[in-house]
Amino acid sequence: MPATKFICPNGKRVTIKRCLASCPQKERCMFLPTLRAVAESLDRGIKGATVTELISGVRETYLKKKTSYAVDPQSVLYSLHGQAVHTIHEGNTEGEILGEVRLKDKLTSGKFDLYGKIIDEEEGVLGDLKVTSSYKLAKALGIYKVDVPTGEVYKTGAKKGQPKTRKEFRYDGVRHVWEWSVQVNYYRMLLEEAGFAVHRMFIQALCRDSSLRTAAERGITKQIYIIPIHRISDHWLKRYFGKKAALLRQAMKNRELPSPCSCKETWNGKKCLEYCEVREHCPHAQQMAELLNGFAS
Ligand code: SF4
Ligand code: SF4
Repeated sequence: MPATKFICPNGKRVTIKRCLASCPQKERCMFLPTLRAVAESLDRGIKGATVTELISGVRETYLKKKTSYAVDPQSVLYSLHGQAVHTIHEGNTEGEILGEVRLKDKLTSGKFDLYGKIIDEEEGVLGDLKVTSSYKLAKALGIYKVDVPTGEVYKTGAKKGQPKTRKEFRYDGVRHVWEWSVQVNYYRMLLEEAGFAVHRMFIQALCRDSSLRTAAERGITKQIYIIPIHRISDHWLKRYFGKKAALLRQAMKNRELPSPCSCKETWNGKKCLEYCEVREHCPHAQQMAELLNGFAS
């Protein structure tokens, strides 16, 4: 079951149907067509679990499929940015490029963005489009800062005598692209199983906050970055997705809440406290919130 309610700016909940028919507030919080687009993005009418749903925690996907939950339309707007980028490309894939085809296997389904001669003269290149934050992008590019001595020392104050340093960027850090890699590799596997050889894979990431000072402070100076994605073995992909698909299937069949999502899936708990759309239905999120409140009081 996709989200059924919107959370209004005043915190009240209203069914999406009611909101779209007529807003009970004095004025809509955004234009009606924008709200329609948000509602549409929440219900894509896809049967079974998609590649991205299986990459999320099994509990999160289960709750999204089984419960009636509410979302703040403002917080869903970012997914419209992604859709807009896809739409821009849709009309420009003529020639030797395939785009936006949903492929299926026994476990799941996924829609790749671009395939063909997309970056140079080589055929069989798979491309995925992302719209993301400078924070995520800097992590994906392995950018970090180090302190470099300036050759001067502090002459006064608590640091007197200590060397002065300045921050410098380094670009050789660990590239945090695990989720993107797993997703794109699954599309690669689906394409290959359909008879299309994939020679290389890339993500084209558009930074949504590239004009802000914080982006420059993170080392992000361009709007678009091309990130190469390495191959993950089909054996690993099938085991990983097979296990998660089986856990989800079993939970759905028995109507049994799966174990809490892992630390990796919840960004070390941050998602449970602030971002997970089904956290109101998740006992783990409530326990975490109670624990935090206990510490704070
Ligand atoms: S338009 Fe905004 S304020 Fe009005 S019902 Fe919908 S979500 Fe609530
Ligand atoms: S609140 Fe956390 S554990 Fe619960 S479903 Fe969401 S991500 Fe998973």
